[in-house]
Amino acid sequence: MNYEHIKSQDPDLFETITKEEERQMEGIELIPSENYTSEAVMEACGSILTNKYSEGYPGKRYYGGQENIDVIENLAIERAKKLFGAEHVNVQPYSGSPANTAIYFALLEFGDTVMGLKLDHGGHITHGLPIAFSGKAYNFVQYGVNKETGKIDMDEVYKLAKEHKPKMIVAGFTAYPRDIDWKRFKEIADEVGAISMADISHTAGLVAGGVLESPVPYFDVVMTTTHKTLRGPRGAIIMCKEKYAKAIDRAVFPGLQGGPHEHTIAGKAIAFKEALNPSFKEYVAQVKVNAAHLASELMKRDFKLISDGTDTHLILADLTNKNVTGKIAQIALDEVGITLNKNTIPDDPRSPFDPSGIRLGTPAVTTRGMKEAEMEKIAEWIDRTISNVEDEKLLSEIKEEVKEMCLKFPVPGIKI
Ligand SMILES: *Cc1c(COP(=O)(O)O)cnc(C)c1O
Repeated sequence: MNYEHIKSQDPDLFETITKEEERQMEGIELIPSENYTSEAVMEACGSILTNKYSEGYPGKRYYGGQENIDVIENLAIERAKKLFGAEHVNVQPYSGSPANTAIYFALLEFGDTVMGLKLDHGGHITHGLPIAFSGKAYNFVQYGVNKETGKIDMDEVYKLAKEHKPKMIVAGFTAYPRDIDWKRFKEIADEVGAISMADISHTAGLVAGGVLESPVPYFDVVMTTTHKTLRGPRGAIIMCKEKYAKAIDRAVFPGLQGGPHEHTIAGKAIAFKEALNPSFKEYVAQVKVNAAHLASELMKRDFKLISDGTDTHLILADLTNKNVTGKIAQIALDEVGITLNKNTIPDDPRSPFDPSGIRLGTPAVTTRGMKEAEMEKIAEWIDRTISNVEDEKLLSEIKEEVKEMCLKFPVPGIKI
């Protein structure tokens, strides 16, 4: 990307962007919700489309001058429908959290009972965290994972659903490494008369590329962010059965949002085209292979993984036996140029600010072209780092090794 105007008009900001370019280029990105979007997507997001107001929907706008904007938004909608096989798609949500809020606003009354996964078992803040809007506006009943297996306890989901008769069941996961039994979720929702809602923000790329099963054929509503494994711009979409289309559209606009961000919607349209390309299937297949390989390399080094592995792009590790907390591990790994996040483990005895675990994933490293051999090196560096968090000399040596490898794998939009 070219920042010549920022460079001349705002040197302070330019300098910081340059430093961030270096950080992204020279370090290993393992945060599972992050990725590198293409230059084409970045061009759309930085385009003149940011100038336009277009409240409403294609063909039904509240402002003039929409002849090109309608074409762009319709392209995004049609491509998303094709990619996921969805009946109806709304491409306007600004991000994942507003999308979830719009779904609740569309289909629930305040105070209604909803089921969602507990935050410390892998759920998202929008799935009923007591201090969040979702937790305050709705009566969330929370299910969890089985302590032994680390997997969603479908019998508990069934029991809670029978007992609480929720109006909606949310099946969505932000720190859960396993595949989901969508069909079972849908059967349970049907039996208790609940609306089924799947939040595939993390796994949408793997679903679109066919390496994980899709909830779209079963579920009433499915939403996803567009910037995680799907590798598009920061944003979200909502897909639903035709019978909910009107309610969803009205809740997004004017219920919750004003003017849609058409520059981002153009970026989404490009990302969906990229995801329809055969090379996207290769990328997601490798994301999964890399995650499985990284998981097994970590387990070889005596890391305790929640659920003993992964079916997806994501790994959750309990560091208790390694004698470091998630926070200490995150800080030490930052020092060597390996970025991931501290994370609670199911029923974590520690606080979310300094939890027992770390969460990591392979979408970003796979986009850079890294494969199994690199996963082995990454596991080795993680192990050496967290076993020697106070050895500054060793950490700076590891940082150099990390950088040397990273410079062989380009990041879209960054010149070496
Ligand atoms: C990331 C995520 C979201 C929220 O997305 P934002 O764009 O950060 O608001 C919602 N649900 C799940 C499961 C997520 O992982």
